[in-house]
Amino acid sequence: MINFEFVRTSTVKNAIAALSKTPGAQFIAGGTNLVDLMKKGVAAPKRLIDINSLPLRDITSDSKGILIGALALNSEVAEHPLIKNKLSLLAKALDAGASAQLRNMATIGGNILQRTRCSYFNDSTMPCNKREPGSGCGAKNGYHRMHAVFGASDKCIAVHPSDMCVALAALDAVVHTAGPKGERKVLFADFHRLPGDNPELDHHLQPGELITGIYVPANSFNKQHYLKIRDRASYAFALVSVAVALEVTDGIIKNAKLSMGGVAHKPWRLISTEQFLVGKAASKETFTEAAAVAMTGAVGLTHNRFKIKMGKAAVREALLQAIR
Ligand code: SF4
Repeated sequence: MINFEFVRTSTVKNAIAALSKTPGAQFIAGGTNLVDLMKKGVAAPKRLIDINSLPLRDITSDSKGILIGALALNSEVAEHPLIKNKLSLLAKALDAGASAQLRNMATIGGNILQRTRCSYFNDSTMPCNKREPGSGCGAKNGYHRMHAVFGASDKCIAVHPSDMCVALAALDAVVHTAGPKGERKVLFADFHRLPGDNPELDHHLQPGELITGIYVPANSFNKQHYLKIRDRASYAFALVSVAVALEVTDGIIKNAKLSMGGVAHKPWRLISTEQFLVGKAASKETFTEAAAVAMTGAVGLTHNRFKIKMGKAAVREALLQAIR
């Protein structure tokens, strides 16, 4: 049993102040990841600050985009008419995540900050540089079927577990934060980190900062799809996933945004593939070539090499399904 202090707060200002009072304090909202980690002894915050009463749950829009409050629940965002009508890619990715019960508890802000599901990270008896820097990477010389084929380091080969984040990366979303030094806006593509020498750091949130919302700029994508390949049809993390947003006019691709999940420590944007696609016919032949571009540079290990072939097939299929 780990003792911790529990406080509730109802304003963003008080929440930020409450966090800075105690080293090792953490915010809690849905708690669908943090409580699990506390039960397993992987996380041991000294103080939990319940932010569920903060006024950060609205979903609003203007001519430039849609702002989703950080405390909006995954299920209510997926079901919201604005999201269903204008950001179907995001709705599909949210529906692909976790289980209905978890989507009813988990918040958008928490989804972004969820930690890897690497089984060595989640087992406090195993070495893990992310959980305990310098202890080694159990997965690298162990079983690593679920792990990264892009952007890994000697220290960590974990993948980011979120589906929603893959869609937000493709949609050029912006993370809104508030902290002791004021408010910031961070491009989604720059929010999460690759492991490098500091795999204990998942993202670029500054000390004391709180995610207040996600802004998704308006777009002209008329073809969108999220494809997730997993071991079972529900309640499983992606082996490989692909988010596709295309603008296609008269059969020609005018704009393309793609990202992958299950392949890297962060949502993996496919910039070269996007550049390859623009100006080409939206055809099977184009998509087959684009899929090869997407997986260029992937590096597999003993147990996860299959992801390279699977990733190629998934990118092609996601593009095909987007234009159906
Ligand atoms: Fe830990 Fe990363 Fe290695 Fe998993 S892959 S054991 S999270 S260091």
